[in-house]
Amino acid sequence: MRIKTKLNLGVGLLFLLIIILTLVSAFYIFSIKKDTENILKANYNTLEYSRNMLLSLDEITINRDNAIITFKENLQKQTQNVTEAGEKKGTDNLKRNFVLLEKNSSDETLKMQIRQDIFEIMKLNMNAIKQKSDIAKHTAETANLWIAIVGTLCFLIAFNLLINLPNNIANPIKELTQSIKEIANKNYSERVHFTNHNEYGDLAKSFNTMAQKLEEYNSSNLYKLFFEKKRLETLINNMHDPIIGLDNKGIVLFVNDEALKIIGMKSEDVIGKSASTLALSNDLIRSLILKELATDSQKKQPLKIFAHGKESYFDKETINITITPTGEEREINIGDVIILRNITLFKELDFAKTNFIATVSHELKTPIASIKLSLQLLQNNKTGDMNDDQKQLVESIKDDSQRLLKITGELLNLSQLETGNIQLNIEKSDPYAIANYATEAVKVQADQKQIKLIIDANENLQDVKADSEKTGWVLINYLSNAITYSSEKSTIIVRLKQENNQIVFQVIDTGKGIDAHYKDKVFDKYFQIPGSQKSGTGLGLAISKEFIEAQNGSIGVESNLGLGSTFWFSLKV
Ligand code: ADP
Repeated sequence: MRIKTKLNLGVGLLFLLIIILTLVSAFYIFSIKKDTENILKANYNTLEYSRNMLLSLDEITINRDNAIITFKENLQKQTQNVTEAGEKKGTDNLKRNFVLLEKNSSDETLKMQIRQDIFEIMKLNMNAIKQKSDIAKHTAETANLWIAIVGTLCFLIAFNLLINLPNNIANPIKELTQSIKEIANKNYSERVHFTNHNEYGDLAKSFNTMAQKLEEYNSSNLYKLFFEKKRLETLINNMHDPIIGLDNKGIVLFVNDEALKIIGMKSEDVIGKSASTLALSNDLIRSLILKELATDSQKKQPLKIFAHGKESYFDKETINITITPTGEEREINIGDVIILRNITLFKELDFAKTNFIATVSHELKTPIASIKLSLQLLQNNKTGDMNDDQKQLVESIKDDSQRLLKITGELLNLSQLETGNIQLNIEKSDPYAIANYATEAVKVQADQKQIKLIIDANENLQDVKADSEKTGWVLINYLSNAITYSSEKSTIIVRLKQENNQIVFQVIDTGKGIDAHYKDKVFDKYFQIPGSQKSGTGLGLAISKEFIEAQNGSIGVESNLGLGSTFWFSLKV
């Protein structure tokens, strides 16, 4: 039964019973009141008149006229108040005897007769009172019975409502609240079981449908997520580059097959383990999780790993993954992905190129040197005179071969650096001597542009730990560049000073300067600032950097476009 109907029935019945109870009580109270009034009006008054008539009868000898009047008045009232069976006959007898007594008031027998009549009437009425009182009593008893019945019914219904209704309403709500909490806690298998065909039954049906749909939605989303996870795993596994994923606590989340191959471990021994624990027993993992190393040059070193049956080279890239959680503004770190790019092929090509350059430049050096020698012989008067045109041609061949020699020298230096075949002869070297040697070497070049070369050196500089030949080469390269990029008749200063335990060599020119964009790039291999002289190779500064860093020194440039540049390097004393 529906709750609304139940409530309507229960409360409605109770209401009806209360009305019935009120009506029954009112009806019986009214009946009892009517009975009492009846007794009062019909019988009590007759007894009153009879009493007055008896008193008047006693007074008739003393005060005849008054007694007769009073008797007559009461007899008159009695005549109008005849209510009981036989009372009329008695009253008529009384009237008749009273008429006779009026004529002969001293007749005692007549008086006796009248008294008899009055007593007769009184007896009739007293019997009637008793009878009516019995009826009233009976009415009261019936009223009691009915009121008790209806009252009990009311009590039973009210008691039933009191016991059942609150539970009927509250229990399903309690159960439903509990189930809603379960759903909120993502327990989508929760159901409610109200079998009644009432409003709660409908509610349960709707709730269960909702829970079922949520369950389906949730499992379909999970399926999607699993699918996406599988797809990503397959993708990562199929990549040829080794990839390792770590969470923000350094626990390994995923490792692809390539990475497993090179670290030589099984996935179950790696996944879920702390990378720092694994690093204790695996050198490769140690170098992979090692945070970036101190110096730039070390950072750029590719990792040499024995993989695919040969020595392979990998470029390590660590990508830090951060996300902004939904509804939040701050980014959080969720881990790192380490990607190793296999650059073996490029390395092999690079080696081939370096070897090629080394061979070519080495092979070219001897013929060029012999060309130079032949030119010197040609210029000698002993080999015969040349006309002016011939002299000019020989001069230009000399310039070109000089440049060729410079280029092949640079290429040879570079190939030596790249193959690691560089031979450093580090010894105690005098900075003044290096500076003098370099300025002497570029003197002719400077004179051609009427450039003044000044050495501005602090006194008593300590010796440096350096390969004087390579350091001199760097200083010559600086000076040669400064001359090339300075205007005629300008001045170039070579400054030597000591800073802490370093000797700083500076070449200061007032030439065209270097744009801030290119300041970091001029030390890169083959880099030439767009628009600058194309005669060079773009290798001079790169080789200088390698030479200085190989001697544990530092190198750099400060420059303002249009105002000149200061190229410097420093070496330990
Ligand atoms: P290159 O053989 O071309 O001179 P370098 O490595 O010596 O190669 O120089 C690289 C580039 O740096 C040059 O192309 C030039 O543009 C720029 N550069 C070098 N020195 C100076 C300088 N003193 N003033 C202005 N630019 C310079």
